[in-house]
Amino acid sequence: MNSQSQRGKSLFIRKRREAFKQYIDTKRLKLTKQRSIIFEEFFSYPGYHVTAEELYERVKRRCPKIGYATVYRTLKLFKECNLAFERNFGEGKIRYEPVRFEGEHHDHLICIGCGRIEEFENEQVEYHAKEVARERGFEVTNHKVELYGYCSTCRERTQKR
Ligand SMILES: [Zn+2]
Ligand SMILES: [Zn+2]
Repeated sequence: MNSQSQRGKSLFIRKRREAFKQYIDTKRLKLTKQRSIIFEEFFSYPGYHVTAEELYERVKRRCPKIGYATVYRTLKLFKECNLAFERNFGEGKIRYEPVRFEGEHHDHLICIGCGRIEEFENEQVEYHAKEVARERGFEVTNHKVELYGYCSTCRERTQKR
């Protein structure tokens, strides 16, 4: 990683940490060592869609005393204060990902072959979704586009067979 993206990353984490601290203050909670570790682990990987179990496994390596329930509840706190997106890609488990900045929006391609999750942003998609809603007199407050299928790697694999 070059120094500029390193700096960008630490600024990103610092801003998130301030926002999180403010939020848990209002909830009369404390930024405990365990919550800080969970925070660090979670926000070190923007663009990564993690389940509570996966994050728990990662955090446990740094802090073996941490319980799954703490990780789970802390993720819920991130979600509540809009620092994390909660995603349900129909796998029977919830995934979380860090919100990179206020008002961030992106959509997903989900491979049902290997489970790979890719992100995309497309102005046309956004525009047409709004148009569809407008034509029906529908006011959109939120939307998500999830495309399911097979990624290029999985497609290559089946074609070779
Ligand atoms: Zn795949
Ligand atoms: Zn995403």
